[in-house]
Amino acid sequence: MAEGDTLVRIARKLRPALLDRKIVAASAPNPRSSLRIHTRRLEGRRVESIETLGKHLMVHLDDGLVIHSHLGMNGSWRVDDGRGFGKPDRNAWLLLEVAPTPGPDQGQSWGSASRPATGRRIKVGQFGGTTLRLVRSVELARDTRLARLGPDILAPEFDEETAIRAIRNCSGQIGVALLDQTLVCGIGNIFKSEACFEAHIDPWRPASSLDDSEARKLLGIARKQMHSAVETSRRPGRIYKKTGRPCFHCRQARVRSRAQGDDGRTTYWCPACQK
Ligand SMILES: [Zn+2]
Repeated sequence: MAEGDTLVRIARKLRPALLDRKIVAASAPNPRSSLRIHTRRLEGRRVESIETLGKHLMVHLDDGLVIHSHLGMNGSWRVDDGRGFGKPDRNAWLLLEVAPTPGPDQGQSWGSASRPATGRRIKVGQFGGTTLRLVRSVELARDTRLARLGPDILAPEFDEETAIRAIRNCSGQIGVALLDQTLVCGIGNIFKSEACFEAHIDPWRPASSLDDSEARKLLGIARKQMHSAVETSRRPGRIYKKTGRPCFHCRQARVRSRAQGDDGRTTYWCPACQK
């Protein structure tokens, strides 16, 4: 499931493949793709930057166009490293082929990801998801869904104070507030349960009952867990989908699970040690 950590990892994977390279071919093989009539606009464009905001990914092109994607529960971005995507090309909502020659700033750092070998075209595919659209950057700046997002929990400049205030002012339960992307963005269903568990906070309490230090601790743990997942690709796995198993912390009670909020997203918690 794509939470903020997945998106940061995808951006890290896409940058070495796409950044500063020219799109030489673009297609939308899947008949359900929303980009079917728009792919010609991508050809000849150079990829300038790739950024994430919570669960959203934006690929900025040199003429002010932006590919905006949200992966929902099951979407993915894949890079063909010579062995294919692991699923048929015809399922892709978007296929990009980029020229092998890097641009003039090839000396820059690509982080931990290695730059794919040059000499052949590099293929990137986008599969599934809830949003895939091509917009001008000026339109993106006016996008109400993006404008309403709360501080990005994984951003280097994460605005913790604003997020704390928003969560504490929320009228819903903590488990619902953490998923509300307008309060703080990037947290999904897994880290909702894992962060509450590690903070020993009951996700069923009203969010307004959190004092300042509890809210700070909860967000700090979520941020730390998600940063760790970015680096290791491993999520904590201490309570999510552990219904009926002995609690990792107290070893006394068994983990419970129940649907929470209007969306009925399953919350996992220990009734003994989360207060
Ligand atoms: Zn427990």
